[in-house]
Amino acid sequence: MKIRVLDTTLRDGEQTPGISLTASEKLRIATKLDDIGVNIIEAGSAITSSGEKEAIKKITSAGLNAEICSFARAVRVDVDAALDTDVDSVHLVVPTSDLHIEHKLNKTREEVLNQAMDACQYALDHGLIVELSAEDSTRSDMDFLKKVFSEGIDIGANRICACDTVGMLTPEKSYDFYSQLATLGAPLSVHCHNDFGLAVANTLSGIRGGASEFHCTVNGIGERAGNAALEEIIVSLNTLYGKDKDYVSVVDDNYEFETDINIQEIYSTSKLVSRLTGVYLQANKAIVGENAFAHESGIHADGVIKNAATYEPITPELVGHKRKFVMGKHIGTKGLRNNLSELGIKPTDEECDEIFKRVKSLGDMGKCVTDVDLQAIADNLLELERDQKIKLEEFTIVSGNKAIPTASVKLNIDDEEILEAGVGLGPVDAAIVAIKKGIVDFADVELEEYHVDAITGGTDALIDVVVKLRLGDKIISARSTQPDIIDASVEAYLSGVNRLLEDN
Ligand code: MN
Repeated sequence: MKIRVLDTTLRDGEQTPGISLTASEKLRIATKLDDIGVNIIEAGSAITSSGEKEAIKKITSAGLNAEICSFARAVRVDVDAALDTDVDSVHLVVPTSDLHIEHKLNKTREEVLNQAMDACQYALDHGLIVELSAEDSTRSDMDFLKKVFSEGIDIGANRICACDTVGMLTPEKSYDFYSQLATLGAPLSVHCHNDFGLAVANTLSGIRGGASEFHCTVNGIGERAGNAALEEIIVSLNTLYGKDKDYVSVVDDNYEFETDINIQEIYSTSKLVSRLTGVYLQANKAIVGENAFAHESGIHADGVIKNAATYEPITPELVGHKRKFVMGKHIGTKGLRNNLSELGIKPTDEECDEIFKRVKSLGDMGKCVTDVDLQAIADNLLELERDQKIKLEEFTIVSGNKAIPTASVKLNIDDEEILEAGVGLGPVDAAIVAIKKGIVDFADVELEEYHVDAITGGTDALIDVVVKLRLGDKIISARSTQPDIIDASVEAYLSGVNRLLEDN
């Protein structure tokens, strides 16, 4: 059975505390959602502000394939605002629980029903597709809820949607609830919130109950604990409920659901949204987290190298992600050998044992071991003297009280002296800007991630900086630990750049 996807990253997702997207950022996300096959994009709520209206207009005039939708309360002014933006449809929301009707709207059920039908009719008369949606539906009187939907369907609402606004469903209740609504005679949507961490489970149950569309956001962003996460639902439908099941299930599960989503673009979509919203993911986030396909434990890494299916339910390639072996105190010799051979190092058994001991002792100190650390340990042990292409001769930083953070650097690249200066938001930024300008002819290196950690307590703490750098499609991480944050940042950055240049 085909299941349609309504993505509300740009509406419910943008209601996440602290997120505010510009119109062009919204367009970039909408374009990506369209590219990956989202059927309906809820682009915003047109009534919110003139800026929001402009953003929605930008999206409706971009020639996307998806149906573009605006959120609207069940009042004519909201429908008018939506009409101004040339959307295809409205997600027309009417509160159905007595709690919302009495305490939020100060109205009666009858008044709310009449108002909803008036707005629905008005939107239909103006050529909009209407998805009639019940807010707080899961705490509503079931007879009243069905009455709202049935009357809406009678006047021509195209779809109905029941929102679990504060995440009160369980998977069992969700199955029963959506099963009952699926018989009303219009395509049904499931909209779940994650207050109890059950949004995805409840969405899947709703689909099993008969919903033919689900609402979701990329990375599960949204108010409070967020919405059901697009990537988790899509991959579950594909792998756990799909027709390509290639595992033996413990229970009979002869149901299949398909979507139009291009699964291989799931990870890049997640990255785009986290970058533009500034909401970064926990490492252990399912499917798209940095650790979703990371293996540290020796037993696991060994199993994955022999046959990835031993400790991976899906391959990282399926969603466009990457497998990685993290080096720390749980690493085994097989995982270590694998990492070394990726660096082009083939030690003897004895050498490998010695490298292994040193990595373990770093791990015991609570450190993860980066590619460059491993390289340094191996170089040291195998007495490989590496030629550093880029050497730092000196640098000066000016920052502080009203001064624009400015850095000058003297670099030695292939015995040629290069002087550069840069300004930045802060001293570290200024130093990196200056170095980037100095090396631009040799390497166009992108700084993907930057982490700072104070190792001990006070302001005299040792500062541990780890950077992740990209050159083309090669990514490596490098670290430096020093008392000065700028020294550490510059050293980590340069040692990473030198490593990237060695292989090119
Ligand atoms: Mn919602």
